[in-house]
Amino acid sequence: MVSEKNSGMPDNEEEADKLYKLGLDYLYGTNVPKDYAKAAECFREACRMGSLPARRELGILYASGKGVQTDMEKAVRYLGEAADSLDPSALYHLGLMYEVGTGVPKDMQKAVRMLAYAAEMGFPGADIDAERVDAILTEQRNKNLRARPLLRLEISDVDVEAACCKPMLDSLLEQSIVFIDSYKGPALLGEDKDGMDAVLDSCPFCGAPVRIVPRDKKYRADRFGPSPGTPGNLLISVAHPLLMEDGAIGAEDSARILRTVIENKMRDISDLEKAKARYRKPEKIEKTDALINYLRADMLSYLTVLADMTDDETILDGFDVDSQGDVECPDDYQDYLKSLSVEDAELESKADEIRTEYCNEILDENYQSIGISALLSPEMMEYILQDPYILGVIGDAIFNDDDLYDKFCGILETKKKGKKKGKKGGKGSKKGKGSSKKGSKNKK
Ligand SMILES: [Zn+2]
Repeated sequence: MVSEKNSGMPDNEEEADKLYKLGLDYLYGTNVPKDYAKAAECFREACRMGSLPARRELGILYASGKGVQTDMEKAVRYLGEAADSLDPSALYHLGLMYEVGTGVPKDMQKAVRMLAYAAEMGFPGADIDAERVDAILTEQRNKNLRARPLLRLEISDVDVEAACCKPMLDSLLEQSIVFIDSYKGPALLGEDKDGMDAVLDSCPFCGAPVRIVPRDKKYRADRFGPSPGTPGNLLISVAHPLLMEDGAIGAEDSARILRTVIENKMRDISDLEKAKARYRKPEKIEKTDALINYLRADMLSYLTVLADMTDDETILDGFDVDSQGDVECPDDYQDYLKSLSVEDAELESKADEIRTEYCNEILDENYQSIGISALLSPEMMEYILQDPYILGVIGDAIFNDDDLYDKFCGILETKKKGKKKGKKGGKGSKKGKGSSKKGSKNKK
């Protein structure tokens, strides 16, 4: 631009500015009759001469369809060029477009950043919009944090994604610890021992390291919606991330068996659909539908386990897992099982075993993570102390676990081993596990 100016085109900028101002006159009907088409014409010409404000105005016209055919692509391009040069009005308008996702992919974080920028530069009203979008984002983040597992401290490039423990969750909710986009990249800002602002490498409460994850990381809780409908879903949502570290569960064999059974189920469903098309009796059609629904629910639960096991969410693409409620086992199911080939029946029972075991593991991990969170929460401890049942369960566990018992006695500095040996005896060492599990709920 500067070189152009110096190389003998001093009038160009002036001309562009004149055209831009004329465009504004047409836009607002100052001294001339209001005429959007003429305004657009002036802005377009001014753009050609390199006017930046004209780009912004033309962008706004393309977005609103005033005086020109609405063209979001052009709107985004012109506004973007002006915004890149920090034109406050362009930032503001583009920010609003990112908020709703018109012409651009919806991106609330980007929206709030642009609106805040515009507000900082004094664009009228931008501060109110920035605050409004920020409030929506905060609410959404808090909702996510509450629904997601309390297990790891995870941040993305735009926000906190998951908390590691209850005290951290509380701090994030009350914003005494906040996400910042620091010069070193995304980080958590809290306080050090002296109450000074400090970037946190790890959780000050439980020591969990701050991990960076992609902003679109899918948590189990997200898949089931922000407020999981059943305790089972909630439990699984808590346990999910634990499983990712456990390579042993996702054995290739298990995944292969699940895959085969899923394929078989899809084949059987398709066969049943074809057969159903030939049926005339409503009764028969209804029965077939019930079986198809049941097999589909079964297949989806295998799919969900497989997706978890292989940590591959794309497996679920195209399947509506969320809408799947409980499906009753139809009478025909036993006949269906009998109709399977020996090989398929064997695979089916193996797959069922894998699913049940996997879900039990999830529950176990679950109980542990909830236990950890409970122990770390003073309010929960207070509650536990008042509950004779829970105290009894904890006491029972300590009493029945030798290592734990020794540890306990060591802490109390009173050795009561004799008493313990005498009392233990006949009790089974391992208690029966909870039997509720997601995958196998359809069975039996
Ligand atoms: Zn923590």
